[in-house]
Amino acid sequence: MCWASLQEIKIELLKGRNSHMQSAEIRRTFLDYFAGKGHTIVPSSSLVPANDPSLLFVNAGMVPFKDTFLGVEQRSYKRATAVQKCMRVSGKHNDLESVGPSPRHHTFFEMLGNFSFGDYFKREAIQYAWELLTQVFQLPVERLWFSVYTDDDDAVRLWQEVGADPRRILRFGEKYNFWAMGDTGPCGPNSEIHYYLGDDVTAQRPEGVNSEDDDYMEFWNLVFMQYNRDAQGVLTPLPRPGIDTGMGLERLAAILQGVKSNYETDLFVPIIQRTMELLRKDRRHYSEHRAAYHIVADHSRAIAFLIADGIRPGNMGRDYVLRRILRRAAYYGQALGFKRPFLAETADVVIDIMGMQYPELQIKRDQIKDLITAEEERFSRTLTTGLRLLEGTLLGSLAGQGATVLPGRDAFMLYDTYGFPLDLTQKILAERGLSVDVAGYEEALREQQERSRRASQFKRNG
Ligand code: ATP
Ligand code: MG
Repeated sequence: MCWASLQEIKIELLKGRNSHMQSAEIRRTFLDYFAGKGHTIVPSSSLVPANDPSLLFVNAGMVPFKDTFLGVEQRSYKRATAVQKCMRVSGKHNDLESVGPSPRHHTFFEMLGNFSFGDYFKREAIQYAWELLTQVFQLPVERLWFSVYTDDDDAVRLWQEVGADPRRILRFGEKYNFWAMGDTGPCGPNSEIHYYLGDDVTAQRPEGVNSEDDDYMEFWNLVFMQYNRDAQGVLTPLPRPGIDTGMGLERLAAILQGVKSNYETDLFVPIIQRTMELLRKDRRHYSEHRAAYHIVADHSRAIAFLIADGIRPGNMGRDYVLRRILRRAAYYGQALGFKRPFLAETADVVIDIMGMQYPELQIKRDQIKDLITAEEERFSRTLTTGLRLLEGTLLGSLAGQGATVLPGRDAFMLYDTYGFPLDLTQKILAERGLSVDVAGYEEALREQQERSRRASQFKRNG
């Protein structure tokens, strides 16, 4: 039997399994589809990039393949597919502030991707994406939209050739349709696929795409890797152009499970459910405090995965990111009504539902839970006192003066004495329409560092 007809059979087999497909099956179906197209299935790399000082965390599926795109590293295959763990909390891709208000942005998420290293290019990338979405996952074409880079006539033509309605192919500029991993590294024009989640299919309009309207959701980005950007911003063509695609598993799960928010998928519901149980609260409480529940669920995942990849709560770099996320979650937990550490319990659910796909979670279950509780206890000892001080004395004196900006030295004192990361203080103030004098905070931090530097010099010399 020829290759093409085997492919047909495979697609027939994969077809029609989309009625409320669970996330484990979505990952499997994606990888199977691309394996069937000659892609090697590559396991997810750690969240900590190997040998890449330009990045704090892996923020996209292509990061582990960066050197392969640049032509520096050779692999035994030219096509790969993966489900990669990602974190977007720093640098060019930072979605921390969107977590809570947004139904579809997370700190930690999984990116499904297919990659070509100097092998196929736009034509196949578009054909595969179309076939997978419309044939295998059987998404209704009348809800799909396609965006392409301003002058990318090739991409427009290729979408039309596979069967996309020309009225559903839209052109956008660099902000939306030119992708870069960071300030430096591989980049290129892209084409994105969007889904209309609204109740009324006849109400769709092109202006909805890439707008604030949550009924329109970007969910898959096909990047046509063509350049390397250097520190001066100069673009140099790659030795051979390639393909890098990224689709958020959580967003695809929302589409396939017929819900409008990632938090209503099987990846999040059990975590939220456990939070409600621990609090002895019902759905009404959840509906009234949705954002806080979502932050707790999102951060519980991030914390568990960061610790599994070797990060520890601390004061520098990656460790500090973990500390900030954990303390933020603890703060929102307290706002929801928790009076004692609880994050080890919510992380336990994360390990239950993700442990099959990511055995590192299961192997390190006890360590993850112990580290979380220790850090949470450290913070909760000072959280209540710090909050009382902030909400009482400090905000009282601001109100007394009719001021809206908290002096930097106060924000620094909250950090130094009570362990409040600056962004947490900012968040608490922002909820009241107030802000922090960040320059003053940084000045106080510098002075403190200077003092401790002198003290340690003194100790060494003395
Ligand atoms: P958005 O504009 O929605 O913030 P993006 O354009 O920054 O997304 P890309 O860099 O194109 O995202 O990433 C590819 C895909 O990864 C997105 O289409 C989406 O499905 C998913 N994705 C990106 N950021 C997040 C996130 N913070 N949480 C969940 N999924 C994400
Ligand atoms: Mg995008």
